[in-house]
Amino acid sequence: MKEEKRMLHSCSRMKRDSLLALIALLIVTVPGGSSAAARSAAVPAASGHHAAEGIQGQTDSRVKDSRTRRVALIIDDFGNGMKGTDEMFDLPVKITVAIMPFLSTTEQDARRAHERGFDVLLHLPMEPRHGKPQWLGPGAVLANMSDAEIRQRVQAALDNVPYAIGINNHMGSKVTGDKRIMGIVLAVCKERGLFFVDSRTNYRSVAGTMAEASGLPRVENDIFLDDVHTTQHVLKQMLLVGEHAQKHRYCVTIGHVGIQGKVTAAGIRGGIAELKDQVEFIGISELVKAEWNWSAGPTLP
Ligand SMILES: [Zn+2]
Repeated sequence: MKEEKRMLHSCSRMKRDSLLALIALLIVTVPGGSSAAARSAAVPAASGHHAAEGIQGQTDSRVKDSRTRRVALIIDDFGNGMKGTDEMFDLPVKITVAIMPFLSTTEQDARRAHERGFDVLLHLPMEPRHGKPQWLGPGAVLANMSDAEIRQRVQAALDNVPYAIGINNHMGSKVTGDKRIMGIVLAVCKERGLFFVDSRTNYRSVAGTMAEASGLPRVENDIFLDDVHTTQHVLKQMLLVGEHAQKHRYCVTIGHVGIQGKVTAAGIRGGIAELKDQVEFIGISELVKAEWNWSAGPTLP
């Protein structure tokens, strides 16, 4: 109770009623979630694409649009009946569901997402610099593969995940820094009218600049929600997402289903309650359309 009181004092921006609702939601109480503390932990956003900020105060008809703060919430690692799957599908806002190929619930999760009106991404396993190969799952893109093998893998994985409108990387810290491989992945995206979302597991990733150079939208993760697996941390990250969106007009953020999926979902739910009056939660397809004027859909090769 003490900690709840402390939170009421420190979070002056939070509305009392939504805060109480949030406290009821959380199993763990949240000590000292002040926005100043949250800001100090902010993940820096690399980003050429944030540079073109709209000037506030304009009076033309686009004012409302240019002031709308948008958040695309991507949840990774669907496809294997992971914990938190139901909780994520039950969230009260639109999410984007990133599904791994060739797994037990790949198709089921894709259909369920489609029926809920959620965007689907292929969550393509890609070789990391560190980590165990078995974490990758089937159909992974590895650094030592030939051009033809990589192309075949990307196409097969896309064919295995119905309704995919784009690809994001599962792991991939090695592969997303490789121009040869990313060139092939992005070429397949372009041929199929898809886009690539760089999860940014590698700060040396070439995916963003290469996407831009090839005329695809440069979509990149801004904030990971659950690098620490507590509801408290996820909530703190969600508040950062709100701040990032205020500052840069939009925010792309990633969480995960998995062993801690229920914990992450609870933190996200709390964050949505806090942010719902400040930002609009939209699917990734709406974001690429709004920010890059780019429509997902098949195009001729
Ligand atoms: Zn993943």
